[in-house]
Amino acid sequence: MNFSNRLGMLGTYLFAEIDRAKREAKKAGKDVIDLGIGDPDMPTPDFIIESMCKAVRDPVNHRYAMDQGLPELREAIADWYYRRLRVKLDPEKEVLPLIGSKEGIAHLPFAVNNPGDVNLVPSPCYPPYKNASILAGAQVFELPLLEENGFLPDLGNIPTEMLQKAKLLFLNYPNNPTSAVADYEFFTRVLALAEKYDFIVVQDMAYSEIVYDGYRAISILEVDKEKRRSVEFHSLSKTYNMTGWRLGWVCGNQEVISALAKFKSNIDSGIFQAIQLAGITALKDGDEFIARMQQVYKGRRDVLVEGLRSIGFDVSSPKATFYVWMRIGGSSIDFAKRVLEEAHIICTPGIGFGKSGEGYVRFALTLGEERLEEAVDRLRKIV
Ligand SMILES: *Cc1c(COP(=O)(O)O)cnc(C)c1O
Repeated sequence: MNFSNRLGMLGTYLFAEIDRAKREAKKAGKDVIDLGIGDPDMPTPDFIIESMCKAVRDPVNHRYAMDQGLPELREAIADWYYRRLRVKLDPEKEVLPLIGSKEGIAHLPFAVNNPGDVNLVPSPCYPPYKNASILAGAQVFELPLLEENGFLPDLGNIPTEMLQKAKLLFLNYPNNPTSAVADYEFFTRVLALAEKYDFIVVQDMAYSEIVYDGYRAISILEVDKEKRRSVEFHSLSKTYNMTGWRLGWVCGNQEVISALAKFKSNIDSGIFQAIQLAGITALKDGDEFIARMQQVYKGRRDVLVEGLRSIGFDVSSPKATFYVWMRIGGSSIDFAKRVLEEAHIICTPGIGFGKSGEGYVRFALTLGEERLEEAVDRLRKIV
């Protein structure tokens, strides 16, 4: 049978061998420490679950939801953005709830790209930026994120021809997988380039609340005050341990948002209303929970970073995200395979996030401190 040519253009799956080794280790009864997953291990907090239970019993919520999300949800998002990120949003025109941010990120290229367009995509990156661009028929030009540039793209190094054809530039700060952060000055330079070459900046802020040591993540909309050139994706997944619930949003430039809303109105029929109501509760009453969660991840970060340093790895302590990105030199797949076979620890090979991720591995802080200590002890024995 003949399937979509564009599906065939997506990169091959790199982790087949590691997945097999993982299954074998588990089958053999090995005590596997899985630091590969970017998914919080802790449950959704009770106050959100209570809100959901109430909403799910109300028949009003059993019907098709509104495509654009409940007005109350859009208002709660705007209030949250102002309170936490100092950005004012018009809830009616500048906010669009999504069935998880991945859904919106993946549909955006279909709403904006035409044949001949180039999308500028960082390498390494969260895979949907690249794959959705390919599926929508855009050409992808990769921007390497190098350690010597603080894992920010080198804006002066993008060929003029690519800038002229560019339609979307994807950014993700705080960053998965490198855990790097961006400052005001960087966003200012990005937006000047977007203005000059007439493209849209898509900033993914899924990790805005996973921050440490007093660091505050900056929204690109704090810089692009008139929302001329940018949209920002956000999600309840990481902030409230709600990855399975599927609730996120995009905010910013209203033309881009209405194009995405129009596209989506042909694909889905809104978000289950009970989930929207639980999301409102999370956004309104979740600030204390966020502060506690930050302390938990901070404890884990310190255990893993200090442990890795004590056995000779040169690793920097992230200011944000629940990832530790570690330079290992050499093949990241070989390293991950060896660590799995000899220490029964799972980490993610950097090359899975793009060519420029080679030479690094990612550890997720999604297990408790004791398991992280155990992981360090096991690594100590094999390095
Ligand atoms: C986890 C994650 C998301 C969240 O996706 P949802 O679809 O909202 O669960 C978005 N972007 C990045 C970079 C992520 O790591």
